[in-house]
Amino acid sequence: MPIDGLKIIQAVMESSRIRESKGIIPIFGVYVSLFFVQYYNRLSFQYEKLLEKTGGDQAATYLIEAAQECGYATFHGIRNSWEWQEIVQPMIEKPEDQIFGFTAMAEAFGWGALQVQKIIPEKELRIKVQDSYEATGYRQVYGRSASGKCYMLRGVTGAFMDLLYGEAYPDGCFTFKAEEIRCRAMGDSYCEFWAKKNDSGRP
Ligand SMILES: [Zn+2]
Repeated sequence: MPIDGLKIIQAVMESSRIRESKGIIPIFGVYVSLFFVQYYNRLSFQYEKLLEKTGGDQAATYLIEAAQECGYATFHGIRNSWEWQEIVQPMIEKPEDQIFGFTAMAEAFGWGALQVQKIIPEKELRIKVQDSYEATGYRQVYGRSASGKCYMLRGVTGAFMDLLYGEAYPDGCFTFKAEEIRCRAMGDSYCEFWAKKNDSGRP
């Protein structure tokens, strides 16, 4: 694996010191901001609980879709930035190497320690995450869950495959779909995401 993840993480850390007056961080061709993890978790999970109270069970689907669309646009921007061209592109030998670039970026963003377990080009991607903040947040407030709770990382895993093997941007989103097959919120020792081709015809 020729991608030096540490080099990417250091580059993100270095450039994230630049903040606009409103706290926006222009980095790798996109705009990001610092956000309180507990606040984000609270919004997601309270939204889910609220929908459940009114008989709806679509919250997880909506949150995963939102994450996949966001990941698709964000990592498209990152991949087309001058920083990517300068720092990451020279390390890329084959298309799948981009995934290691994406996971290093995600790690630098504070989403957890992402480890690529398996890539079958054009077919499958498995990513293991040791410290997903969504799982931690869920357990702290609600205890053990019966299903995976890491909606953001689940959507983003699908988006990584969409960017590599879907139609050219912006037509490739939801070509893949990820499941969370292990989650710390369910009592597993880590979370694991498995993206495969989405044949459902729906997001
Ligand atoms: Zn999880």
